[in-house]
Amino acid sequence: MSNHLVIFAETISMNLSYWEKESFLKNIDVAIIGSGIVGLSAAIRLKELSPKLSVIILERGSLPIGASTRNAGFACFGSMTELLDDLKDQSEDVVFSLVEKRWKGLLKLRKRVGDANLKYQELGGFELFRKEDGLNFQQCADQIDFFNKKLDSIIGHKEVYKVADNNISNFGFGKIEHLIHNQAEGQIHTGEMMKTLLEIAQAKGVKILNGIFIKKLNDGENRVELETTDGWNLKFKKVLVATNGFSKTLINQGEIVPARNQVLITKPLQNKSIQGTFHYDKGYFYFRNINGRILLGGGRNLAKEQEETPEFGTTEIIQNALIDLLKNVILPNQKFEIESNWSGILGIGDTKKPIVQNISKNVSVAVRLGGMGVAIGSLVGEEGAELIFKKI
Ligand SMILES: Cc1cc2nc3c(=O)[nH]c(=O)nc-3n(C[C@H](O)[C@H](O)[C@H](O)COP(=O)(O)OP(=O)(O)OC[C@H]3O[C@@H](n4cnc5c(N)ncnc54)[C@H](O)[C@@H]3O)c2cc1C
Repeated sequence: MSNHLVIFAETISMNLSYWEKESFLKNIDVAIIGSGIVGLSAAIRLKELSPKLSVIILERGSLPIGASTRNAGFACFGSMTELLDDLKDQSEDVVFSLVEKRWKGLLKLRKRVGDANLKYQELGGFELFRKEDGLNFQQCADQIDFFNKKLDSIIGHKEVYKVADNNISNFGFGKIEHLIHNQAEGQIHTGEMMKTLLEIAQAKGVKILNGIFIKKLNDGENRVELETTDGWNLKFKKVLVATNGFSKTLINQGEIVPARNQVLITKPLQNKSIQGTFHYDKGYFYFRNINGRILLGGGRNLAKEQEETPEFGTTEIIQNALIDLLKNVILPNQKFEIESNWSGILGIGDTKKPIVQNISKNVSVAVRLGGMGVAIGSLVGEEGAELIFKKI
């Protein structure tokens, strides 16, 4: 009886064929886990550093399904309330060096992918303040000169932030008393960004295998073994982990909490749509225009514990809050219909600084991108690639 069971187990475990090993998995210099913006940027950077390197990306999804294909496409580096909040428990140096990294990351992304491919538009960003945010608005308004000086030295714009209350009626917002404009904030087409990054990586000879779910990483002296959910045990010389909010099962490095973010998009609006990127309720909600529609997301603070999950999904409480926001604040005078909704998973922790480090002789990590990973992702990927490259 037991013999039969063994034979059966061997039959259903899908062993790799000789051909698969020879042509897909042999002589790989670096394996990257995850094909989000970080994994792709790292792979591209490795090929730039040495075109002969053999680089493979192992991605569990049929698409890179984490945050990079599911975000809101804000090309942002920090709204005033968020930065003021960060300054409460972090030094000016820490807060503004992160702003600088986001800005530099955006410049890298724009150079690599191209503004036309990204559909990059610098339409400006706005932060909305309700009556109950009055104190918060006043704190921001009082600090505008200080922030503008800091930002001028980083991005070379004299007056990045300014109070823009006159625009409230142009936008037609309801229940909003103040606006702060950020003239250097832009927006991109997230799908086009990822499609182009994939194309660039493939054109440089990066192998990308989809449907490979790494369930365990065994870090050895001379090689790293990656166990997959298909029962394969893949062995590589060097590995870069770029799995962001999903990293906890693979590595034990710093605090990495998965944080789900829910999004919805309207059908095209009949009246003229607003233009720009918008932050509401200290950045917990965000919305923008895209092809005559509104894309709106956030609300994680309404069910914090429930949303600290690596599972995709939408919930009634958050979707209803998003719809209420559309009805009462964003489009109070317009009819709209919801076309679809989705979710994505962020990686957050005790600080907003991403974790980019060597964790052993053969493994490095570039994870925990937080809410501004479109901006910082290219830089984090490159830093991860450079760590690995030094070890080869
Ligand atoms: C709804 C939402 C809105 C956002 N809006 C913005 C915004 O407007 N502007 C901005 O700058 N940032 C935004 N972000 C954040 C930004 O999208 C992320 O910080 C960034 O995309 C993270 O990139 P990444 O490559 O580190 O991670 P991901 O894009 O999550 O990539 C990780 C990849 O690893 C794969 N993976 C995970 N585990 C495994 C495994 N075990 N084996 C194999 N593969 C695995 C996943 O499938 C995934 O493709 C938003 C995020 C979300 C969720």
